[in-house]
Formats: sequence, structure tokens, C-alpha cells
Amino acid sequence: PIFRNAQFEISIAKPSGLPPPNGSEIAFAGRSNAGKSSAINTLAGHVRLAYVSKTPGRTQLLNFFRLNCGACLVDLPGYGYAAVPEKIRREWGGLIETYLKERENLIGLVLMMDSRRPMTELDRQMIGWFAPSGRPIHVLLTKSDKLSRGPANATLIAVRKELAAYGPQVTAQLFSSLKKTGVEECERIVTGWLGM
Ligand code: GDP
Repeated sequence: PIFRNAQFEISIAKPSGLPPPNGSEIAFAGRSNAGKSSAINTLAGHVRLAYVSKTPGRTQLLNFFRLNCGACLVDLPGYGYAAVPEKIRREWGGLIETYLKERENLIGLVLMMDSRRPMTELDRQMIGWFAPSGRPIHVLLTKSDKLSRGPANATLIAVRKELAAYGPQVTAQLFSSLKKTGVEECERIVTGWLGM
């Protein structure tokens, strides 16, 4: 269980605050309210490691969590919250884009999307920033408990079909923090990225 016992290490607000590379990093990203904090807490087996937002879009920091294996989970700020002023939104976008494009020890991206509305324009932009590097992206279609089996599987198939255009390193699965479904599949994928 790769994410178990993750420990908070540091938060940064600007690219200039990035710590020197130290171990592989796995980024977690998603629209605000996509269920990212819940997914991190579920994977880490920790009730409140990542802060579950009452106000969507509130997390404006990159939060680094050290894993037992020495790698880092990096929680990126949620994007796409409409009530955030344009200037702030641009700053976050800049921070996320810079981190995704330039961080040399970032080996993969876990991208959370609400399974009821996956592949929004901003989700595609994130994939567009990262996929050209050839590094892997794994999409968690979150809150899958809110769909019945047929529609959930149909969503998974449709998303996989769209992702195939980016290459075989871009994968997807269903995930529910509420039901704890998909935890092992996600662990297996990320463990593979780390070559463990
Ligand atoms: P974040 O903004 O992406 O970090 O999203 P949060 O983790 O804060 O979750 C946003 C909302 O979705 C909260 O009200 C959560 O309780 C709810 N939520 C998150 N994961 C699940 C899930 O697996 N199932 C259900 N039914 N609700 C979820």
C-alpha cells in the first residue's frame, strides 16, 4: 500500500518555493470538488491528511507528502472554481503548469475527475500540459458510487477511448472514496511507475 502512512512535509505557494528535487514525485490534480482530498485520504488510510474543502477552490498550495518508499505525493491546487478572481486563477494555473512541465523528478500524474462529468476543458488542458512529456497519467473517475454499474462502466469505456489518443501511458479507472473501491488498482499503477 504505497500511500499508507504518508507524512505532510511542506506547502508551497510559488514555483520559487519548490524544494530541491529529492525522490520521485507523483502529482495529484483535479477540478475543485472532484474528490481529490477524499481520494488522497482514502489512499493514505488517513482521515484528514488532505483537507476536504468546504469552500471549493480554497486550497491554493502545492502540498508535499512523503511516502514510506521515499517518493512524494504532491497535492496540486484544485482548478476550475468559478468564484475565484481571474487574476488568482491565472496564478494557480501558472503554478500548476510550471510544476507539471518543468519538475524533473515528477514521474506521473494522478488526475481526479468526477465520474458524472469527466473530461472537462480544464481536464484536457492538464493532460495537454503533461502527456507530451511521455510520462504516465492515471485518471481516477471519482465518486463512482453515485453511478450505477452500467453508466459507470459506460463512462469508463468512453473516457478510456478518448484518452487513447494521448498514448498507452494514459490510463483510467473507477474510484470511490465512500465505498473504497479502486484503491488497489490505483496502488498497483503508481507502484509500477515507481518501478517497485
Ligand atoms: P476536492 O475539492 O477535489 O478535494 O474534493 P473533496 O474531496 O473535498 O470532495 C468534494 C465533495 O465530494 C465532498 O462533499 C465529499 O464528501 C464528496 N465526495 C468525495 N469523494 C466521494 C465519493 O467517493 N463518493 C461520494 N458519494 N462523495 C464523495
